[in-house]
Amino acid sequence: MLDFLQELAPFAVPLAALFGLLTGSFLNVVIYRVPVMMERGWTAFAKEHLGLVLTAEERQPFNLIKPDSRCPKCHAPVKPWQNIPVVSYLLLGGKCGSCKTPISKRYPLVELLTGVLFAVVAWQYGWTVVALGGVVLTAMLIALTFIDADTQYLPDQLTLPLVWLGLLFNLNGAFVPLTSAVLGAVCGYMSLWLLCYIYKLLTGKIGMGGGDFKLLAALGAWLGVGVLPVLVFMAALIGVVAALVMRVAKGQQFAFGPSLAMAGWLIFIANDKITAAVKWWLGASGF
Ligand SMILES: [Zn+2]
Repeated sequence: MLDFLQELAPFAVPLAALFGLLTGSFLNVVIYRVPVMMERGWTAFAKEHLGLVLTAEERQPFNLIKPDSRCPKCHAPVKPWQNIPVVSYLLLGGKCGSCKTPISKRYPLVELLTGVLFAVVAWQYGWTVVALGGVVLTAMLIALTFIDADTQYLPDQLTLPLVWLGLLFNLNGAFVPLTSAVLGAVCGYMSLWLLCYIYKLLTGKIGMGGGDFKLLAALGAWLGVGVLPVLVFMAALIGVVAALVMRVAKGQQFAFGPSLAMAGWLIFIANDKITAAVKWWLGASGF
């Protein structure tokens, strides 16, 4: 079995791309359903607490598998051949097969993005355990990025497993020594928590969500404590640029999770180059 796997090594990049397209299709489901599952969970919890009865609709199972995917407009079920990443979208001309309602371009774009990023991971790390961990990290970061951008939530159902997975990934020092991973998780959480606490003391406002602390803890667990300063610096830079490009108005809510996720992914792919670039930039600007 292992010999057979080794023979696939030369095809790491195309195989990763293909696996990425399929994973992207599943991520579309995660991105759409996890926030709905969260809200349904809260409603059920609140109603139970208040002694209220759930409606028949609220009692219906809703998870990543059930109910089956349907067109949101005409409720036509999605047929198996309509589930092929990117290809189905093109075959359907970007419209529902039954009622011709346009399908969001985001579905094929998430699939393509996942395919490309998985390929980059395989190109950088080859057919290795680090690459395998890398595709898991990439998939989780894509899901978190889109969910946070859509809803301003970074669900515990994704951030907490990402912390544990990062610690397991580095149990034998796959990416960084375990000590660095544990310190990364703790310092990642504490640094943003402290920053937020001080900000609240000074301004009386909450500047950031608790999900951001957990996401940085997860990135610390995967990438080690050493990269945290550069990671936060880069995430802030990406956040500022994104806010300017998207013309986010002052005081308007702005999701920081996508910036953290992007900075973390870039550091996973090219830590040396990025650290060198940040040091050069800070030096050149007189820090
Ligand atoms: Zn339809």
